[in-house]
Amino acid sequence: MICYLGLGSNLGDRLGHIRRAVDLLKASSGISMLRLSAVYETAPWDTDKGQPDYLNAVVEVEVTAGPRGLLKVLGEIEQALGRKRQEPKGPRTIDLDILYCGSQVIRDEGLMVPHPGAHARFFVLKPLADLVPGFIDPQTGETVARMLEGLQDQGRWRKFCEKII
Ligand code: ADP
Ligand code: MG
Repeated sequence: MICYLGLGSNLGDRLGHIRRAVDLLKASSGISMLRLSAVYETAPWDTDKGQPDYLNAVVEVEVTAGPRGLLKVLGEIEQALGRKRQEPKGPRTIDLDILYCGSQVIRDEGLMVPHPGAHARFFVLKPLADLVPGFIDPQTGETVARMLEGLQDQGRWRKFCEKII
């Protein structure tokens, strides 16, 4: 199954955290790294708490374990990188989200795929469009490129670097 994962960091060595997360994903059994987006710097989304800007990227992976196994691995990598659970939407060393798993739709308390915010967030859609602009969101029925064009507000952003590694 091909999955798209969102990576974000806005504390400390942001690019270092994203690189280490990619390394740990590569080293995980049942996950093969296929492609990486560019890295974008984006203003914090939907928060008025004056937290630092994020670095965001998306990776394309092939997963044998299934979405739940994948979520568990992502949680372990977040812990390994020193993420502490604090207030929702607060600053974090690393945030790893499952954005899409092919055309699967999962609506559980602990796991929502597509990720509920994916279709409406610039920091997801912009790096995702580097990889799969024509990918169709199984819930909105729209392509990534179309959802990106349709965003009302992209917020402040810039390309930070072309490649993660
Ligand atoms: P957020 O990413 O929304 O800022 P967290 O990273 O703290 O918040 O995630 C909170 C919980 O969201 C996780 O413990 C996980 O169980 C749940 N969750 C539900 N769907 C997903 C998904 N698609 N990807 C990652 N986490 C998810
Ligand atoms: Mg998360």
